[in-house]
Amino acid sequence: MRLIPNFLSQTFVRAAVGTLLVFASFAAYSADTAKDAAKTDIHGIAIANMDPSVKPGDNFYEYANGDWIKRTEIPPDRGRIGVFTTLDDLSNKRTLGLIDEAVKTNAPAGSSTRKIADLYTSYMGEATIEAKGLSPLRAQLDAIAAIHDKHELARALGESLRSDVDALNNTNFHTANLFGLWVAPGFSDSDHYAAYLMQGGLQMPDREYYLADNDRMRNIRTKYQAHVSAILKLAGFTDTDARAQRIVELEHAIAEKHISLAENEDIKKANNLWKQTDFDAKAPGLDWAEYFRGAGLGSQPNFIVWQPTAFAGESALVASTELETWKDWLAFHLIDAYAAILPKALADERFAFFGKILAGTPEQRPRWQRGVVVVNQLLGDAVGQIYAQRYFSPEAKAQVDAMVANIIAAFRRRIDALSWMDPATKAEAQAKLTTLYVGIGYPEHWHDYSTLEVKADDIFGNLWRGRLSDYHHDVARLGHAVDRKEWSMHPQTVNAVNLPLQNALSSPAAILQPPFFDPLAPAAVNYGAIGAVIGHEISHTFDAEGSAFDSKGRVRDWWTASDSAHFKAATARLAAQYDTYKPFPDISVNGEQTLDENIADNAGISAAYDGYRASLAGKPAPIQDGFTGDQQFFIAFGQDWGSKSREALVRQQVLTDPHSPSEYRAAGVRNVDAWYPAFNVQPGEKLYLAPPDRIQIW
Ligand SMILES: [Zn+2]
Repeated sequence: MRLIPNFLSQTFVRAAVGTLLVFASFAAYSADTAKDAAKTDIHGIAIANMDPSVKPGDNFYEYANGDWIKRTEIPPDRGRIGVFTTLDDLSNKRTLGLIDEAVKTNAPAGSSTRKIADLYTSYMGEATIEAKGLSPLRAQLDAIAAIHDKHELARALGESLRSDVDALNNTNFHTANLFGLWVAPGFSDSDHYAAYLMQGGLQMPDREYYLADNDRMRNIRTKYQAHVSAILKLAGFTDTDARAQRIVELEHAIAEKHISLAENEDIKKANNLWKQTDFDAKAPGLDWAEYFRGAGLGSQPNFIVWQPTAFAGESALVASTELETWKDWLAFHLIDAYAAILPKALADERFAFFGKILAGTPEQRPRWQRGVVVVNQLLGDAVGQIYAQRYFSPEAKAQVDAMVANIIAAFRRRIDALSWMDPATKAEAQAKLTTLYVGIGYPEHWHDYSTLEVKADDIFGNLWRGRLSDYHHDVARLGHAVDRKEWSMHPQTVNAVNLPLQNALSSPAAILQPPFFDPLAPAAVNYGAIGAVIGHEISHTFDAEGSAFDSKGRVRDWWTASDSAHFKAATARLAAQYDTYKPFPDISVNGEQTLDENIADNAGISAAYDGYRASLAGKPAPIQDGFTGDQQFFIAFGQDWGSKSREALVRQQVLTDPHSPSEYRAAGVRNVDAWYPAFNVQPGEKLYLAPPDRIQIW
């Protein structure tokens, strides 16, 4: 489970380059960004960003960030600006510097340095891209055109399978391919890698875009169909309006078979072990033997099918829908997935729909920034290894390690103090903290790119081979021993992640810098800012989903019935609290869909607060600019979430993401007792909760 949504940072999402190029929200470095301590000599909270006219008890988010929000404009090439995007900008500028060095080095062919240089060069080569036109896709398009029957269709669908989804680590439930593969430790055997299969087939981000019965979504659907037609026309297809109508009808039918994001997050519904021989009976329609042969999985005996009803429904659609419609669907999906690196007319058409209409962003990012994203996606560890050496000192690592130890110790004390929990359950919870692997800054092992072929004049081939190489890498380790210390992010990623099946978490180097972490800032500020982030990731170990895994990362019910009942009641109250938040009058936060992230925020800030108090060792916290230590702690936490977003993006997040919008994450302070005396919050103020209504889960 990630700290923030993928599409709000440049977070690595394997094989989703086409999508990410549109959604990745970093942009040119802006001088006026939230809590930008990095470029000043402020070491502490950013007082200039606060709005003292707002009572902290009425709107803590605006109190902490209001002045910055008032004076900040969202640049036309992004959907959001804030603390995370500012750090993304910095990380990308640094990464570009490393890429530039690689380009100038003229390193030997086959070396990582040369691959970094050639990949970036291939992305930046617009003239080459324009000159090649659609020819890079020709072999794939010809193969689709040559499909004669449903047997050959099944093989083609199998050949399109990629490891492009991730249910529990980077949490990405979307693939435009018919299905997606996630290779991760097994639910019941977490010592070995298993094959998880997940629903797919939609280009738009979620089934809601196809099914929601309101004017806004109907309008989006009309524009989407026009986009499908436009892409096909630019690619030389005839009769594109009729083809587009059939493709959208097919996707609508697929969407009807999909389960919702909230249901996807319930791993108890996901733990469905199917043998390969079960598929014909459980999900008739698709020629499964041929599908698995096409996917190179013919000898894989077992799968965990995340959404059985969607597999049955989508497989039936393969049988019941015309072959020609499926061929058009395959061709459109192929072209749209790569449109961003095809000639400008296609790239612009893709951005016009996914960037402007879906995300509300008027302009594309500068090309160099998108080029950095591509390098991070395909060669993330190669450039990340240099990044970590250059930008993360051993001293910073030692200081963060000490904070982590304090926060884990605080969590231990909180578990011991729980009055409702059975001693045996407490013992297993403590064991989870003992075996938790915490990665700070960078991984101990790096991904090997030696077999990946990269050419300086072939961006399509580079992306195609890169995605295939990731897929082959994942398929090759099915059944093999799990590397519990493996990361799912890179050092240059501004995010953090909990990996429940590995009982591990990672906090990359790029988030371990101001304003989240500043070696020169008071402890109150570091614990409020990065401490709450680390606490959030530790807390995922014990959220609704994480608590289903034991100390070895296996799915095992280690809770007593009464512990479980107490936990469910407390988390239901938290879900109800978030259900009341309305970013716009016609749309509410979905408390169930965001529950795990809200539990992690809720427990994370409490553990970070305890860790901060413990770090003082009985001494008073220094007052800075008139703010007490406790005030600095909470303001630093509120400023973590300082951001400004376009309406379309917030709407997309509420529908498609497990994280609550920023202002409600900052409002989580209302559940912490210590926040009330720190700001003298009184009954009648909007965020005030009477003590029994404050929700404390851990
Ligand atoms: Zn999270």
